[in-house]
Amino acid sequence: MYDTIIIGAGPAGMTAALYAARGNLKVALLERGIPGGQLNNTADIENYPGFAKVSGPELADHMFQPLEGFGVEYIFGMVSSVEDQGDHKVVHTDSGDFQAKTVVVATGSAHRSLGVPGEAEYNSRGVSYCAVCDGAFFRDEDILVVGGGDSAVEEALFLTQMGKSVTIVHRRDELRAQKVLQDRAFANEKIRFIWDSVVKEIKGDERKVQSVVLENVKTGMVTEEAFGAVFIYVGLDAVSGFVKDLGITDENGWIPTDKEMKTKVDGIYAVGDIRQKDLRQITTAVGDGAVAGQQVYKYISEQ
Ligand code: FAD
Ligand code: NAP
Repeated sequence: MYDTIIIGAGPAGMTAALYAARGNLKVALLERGIPGGQLNNTADIENYPGFAKVSGPELADHMFQPLEGFGVEYIFGMVSSVEDQGDHKVVHTDSGDFQAKTVVVATGSAHRSLGVPGEAEYNSRGVSYCAVCDGAFFRDEDILVVGGGDSAVEEALFLTQMGKSVTIVHRRDELRAQKVLQDRAFANEKIRFIWDSVVKEIKGDERKVQSVVLENVKTGMVTEEAFGAVFIYVGLDAVSGFVKDLGITDENGWIPTDKEMKTKVDGIYAVGDIRQKDLRQITTAVGDGAVAGQQVYKYISEQ
């Protein structure tokens, strides 16, 4: 029986694990992949205090390294459900079942798809959701980036290092991204914008993507343009299906908590991007993790 099982080893889960383990609790960190979460999909981070600029995978490594020294047990596994048995919880995974007095849900979010013809067909053959993973494959290509948020603009800037050109297509005529990113993108000679337009279809040959069909939502005009790669950044969806039966999510799958990261179910906490919140960032994820780690310590001590 663990004192706590933390599900998800992104920045939120790793910080919760650090704080709980420093309280001398028996802590398991359950993760379906490698530690780091979305950090592994991020090229350069410039808004994490203490680092002027750091790559996502490098920051993930800095966060993960200290955990072993504090006795955090890393378990590789995909969680399928969590059962509330009152005084303890059962976490079901593809690596077996685990029991704990408390559970911290830190499973973040996953990229959203466009759902247009050609997107699934050309996935990994020119269609990508991760510039840091796949950008290098498209050196000297004309690259299309879809979306107008922080991810689209930040990753478009990164892709200018490889692509011949980078075009951002956005469904409105105004970006959602932070001002600093917008200013950089507008000043970058390699970046061009297509406003008020959506992707209707991604086309290619038997090998890879060759062109994209776009529709101007204001005029209805449909055009086809040659692109060698399409990077899609149209938002994120909550990864919380495995706790649906606990009734702790809102209608969109995000998990509301109080300021102590407590969910509706006693002994179950939620931290990071999976929480119902306004600002989804690394700083807010680690802040949530610290609070939950401390609250778990208090909960176990009081019992
Ligand atoms: P995540 O990082 O999403 O980690 C969740 C973890 O849970 C993952 O490792 C996942 O594998 C695991 N998991 C999910 N489901 C299960 C399951 N069923 N079983 C086991 N494990 C599971 N923020 C910034 O502050 N600065 C930036 O520059 C920045 N750049 C970004 C660039 C991109 C492209 C994206 C997408 C996001 C960026 N962000 C940035 C946002 C930041 O990455 C997130 O806010 C942060 O990673 C959230 O941390 P988290 O721990 O809550 O979730
Ligand atoms: P986001 O902020 O939700 O932005 C998604 C973008 O995609 C929006 O511009 C949206 O348009 C557009 N969009 C949504 N559905 C679409 C569709 N079907 N077709 C075309 N366009 C569509 O998502 P995100 O940019 O991935 O950011 C997610 C979170 O991570 C945010 O909290 C963000 O702040 C954070 N993040 C932070 C950084 C950083 O701090 N440097 C970097 C990356 C991400 P509308 O604008 O019209 O809604």
